[in-house]
Amino acid sequence: MEVKQETAHAPARPILWIVIPCYNEEEVLPVTAPCFLAQLLSMEEQGLISERSRILFVSDGSKDGTWEAIRSLSGSDPRYQGICLSRNRGHQNALAAGLMEARPHCDITVTADCDGQDDVSAMTEMVKEYLKGSEIVYGVRSGRSSDSWFKRVSAEGFYRLMKALGADVVFEHADFRLVSSRVLDHFADYGEVNLFLRGMFPLLGFPSSAVSYERRKREAGKSHYTFRRMLGLAADGITSLTVRPISMIAGLGIVFSLLGLVLTVWAIADVFLGNTVPGWASIVCIVSFMSGIQLISLGVIGQYVGKTYLEAKHRPRYIVSDRTDRPYRRIFLEERECEDRDETAGEETEGGQ
Ligand code: UDP
Ligand code: MG
Repeated sequence: MEVKQETAHAPARPILWIVIPCYNEEEVLPVTAPCFLAQLLSMEEQGLISERSRILFVSDGSKDGTWEAIRSLSGSDPRYQGICLSRNRGHQNALAAGLMEARPHCDITVTADCDGQDDVSAMTEMVKEYLKGSEIVYGVRSGRSSDSWFKRVSAEGFYRLMKALGADVVFEHADFRLVSSRVLDHFADYGEVNLFLRGMFPLLGFPSSAVSYERRKREAGKSHYTFRRMLGLAADGITSLTVRPISMIAGLGIVFSLLGLVLTVWAIADVFLGNTVPGWASIVCIVSFMSGIQLISLGVIGQYVGKTYLEAKHRPRYIVSDRTDRPYRRIFLEERECEDRDETAGEETEGGQ
């Protein structure tokens, strides 16, 4: 693999790496991979990108024939490359693995789903936006006609909830995005394990713009985002970007304490008025309601405590177990060699001071 030249300004024909996470996608890959290649070649012919551009598939611990499919694609054309993660780490980690793999070799990356739902032709517009000066270009859905009613309502509700909680997310933008490697260099400093990329890139700053596209239907196979996974992603997004739910709980606590005070005054007044026995139903209602609120509040706080625990362990986000261009043992030894070299260089610098 070639290593890109460091330049301060956007090169005229940037090297583009398209990063595509794949989890159990053996059915769809043979259909969509040629579309990605055709798009890459078309941008090359238009003089927008360098002929050293590549398509990088990330097999996210797939259990079907996805990795074999990626291997055979890479054998058919050198523009196709692939890495394989040691186990399923989820969409966000697979994207991060692909981006970190691509970073030293390219000027820009575009991340896209492998199922053909993200319109590949929008990449031309994204690259043009980059050439005009944007370092991040968000792919924004112009409509959701291909999604089910439930997916549409839940997804739109999620964006509105995130905004209400103070998280800076781009409306109707998922993970179809162009990011320059200059931005990725800074993204690499964000060490958190709980990743929510669509919320993290706006945090980085840098000039950005948006390109709208029509979200398509899946070419084959089925979605991996079940209702439970969508809820998990939403919880990750909220806990990774904002602590407002905890402030809201504190606010709720104050409101209910005041309410409790009023109820206490009312209860004491009731004693003096001689109406104490008929109060049973109201007490039961108040106790059940309050314990529900307390449990929800504890649950929300628990989410943050749990996430803090996971972050404190500093475990790696993923392990690359195979690459199309190098067998596993070589990757491991090379990485160790690099680490040793860095350590020795560090010691020498310290000694020289
Ligand atoms: N994906 C992944 N790891 C996972 C789940 C999904 O890499 O654990 C990939 C999947 O192969 C696809 C992308 O993430 O390329 C989006 O997933 P999917 O199409 O299932 O989600 P949807 O578009 O229905 O939200
Ligand atoms: Mg999809």
